[in-house]
Amino acid sequence: MEMWIRFWPFFAVFSIMVTWECLSPRRILSQRRAERWPTNLGLTLLNMVLVWAVVGGLAYMAATFAAEQQIGLLHWVSAPFWFAVPASILVLDFALYVQHRLFHSFPLLWRVHQVHHADLGVDATTGLRFHPIEIFLSLAYKAVVIIALGAPAWAAVAFEILLNATSVFNHSNVSLPERLDQGLRWFLVTPDMHRIHHSTRAVETHANFGFSVPWWDRLCRTYRAEPALGQLGLEIGLSWYRASLPLGQVLLLPFQTSPPLEKTWKEVSPLQLREMLAEENPPYVLDVRDLGEFTGELGHIAGAHLLPVSDLDKRLNELALGRSRPVVLV
Ligand SMILES: [Zn+2]
Repeated sequence: MEMWIRFWPFFAVFSIMVTWECLSPRRILSQRRAERWPTNLGLTLLNMVLVWAVVGGLAYMAATFAAEQQIGLLHWVSAPFWFAVPASILVLDFALYVQHRLFHSFPLLWRVHQVHHADLGVDATTGLRFHPIEIFLSLAYKAVVIIALGAPAWAAVAFEILLNATSVFNHSNVSLPERLDQGLRWFLVTPDMHRIHHSTRAVETHANFGFSVPWWDRLCRTYRAEPALGQLGLEIGLSWYRASLPLGQVLLLPFQTSPPLEKTWKEVSPLQLREMLAEENPPYVLDVRDLGEFTGELGHIAGAHLLPVSDLDKRLNELALGRSRPVVLV
């Protein structure tokens, strides 16, 4: 029963977003749907069948169990229903933000999560493209959070519906007017915001982890407003998988060794940069700002190498070979 309550909203949102993508696409996808969709939809179908056959409505069961046993924070404080439902949805959404960051931080979890990132285009089907291991780990994690919180069953089901809907929405390749996108970004993760997370650049993949509301990224300083190469120039996927992978190969990805998503960068403030420049071994500074941006806090940086942003990839690759000094990108 609970599965059907969840299925129809998902089906409606998915159909709307796919139609919208056809009518008003944001980007020309580099790969044809025929190359990506069999893998993405195959994974979706496999996950649906596996979840249905193995655990059913685990989130609902966890919430009912917590209510019967009267365990979990909200039961202990006898929170009223009107408070417990929105509070649970919000806490679960934050928990999913944390889960997403964990999947990026631990090499074994990253192996599983890279199935999602290996997609060479981002559209509504990408929002469903997860390895079954990630789906089961996430279900178990959510069940633990639901029980610890004592979330009402209604909140658990509503959250699953919301998560599915927002994931399909924020991965979709739809064009929204810029002003609408900027307005929505205050309370909803928009497609332009989440697409940055699918960039091949590690610094951009380590941003915009949120699924529903953008607040966690803003609070935890992982929010990124725009990709360096712009929404249309942004390269999607993982730099070490540049061909579409068939379903069988995608299922095996977590069991193969692959390059870790190295975090070889850190953000520095203008003040830290000034201190670094005064050191004995100053960093190599690449400045890709437009002339108009020089009026900001940093101003002109003496000795910085000015280059157009389109040359950045080439220059960084050259520097990566035989690099002895840290590189700072402004
Ligand atoms: Zn991710």
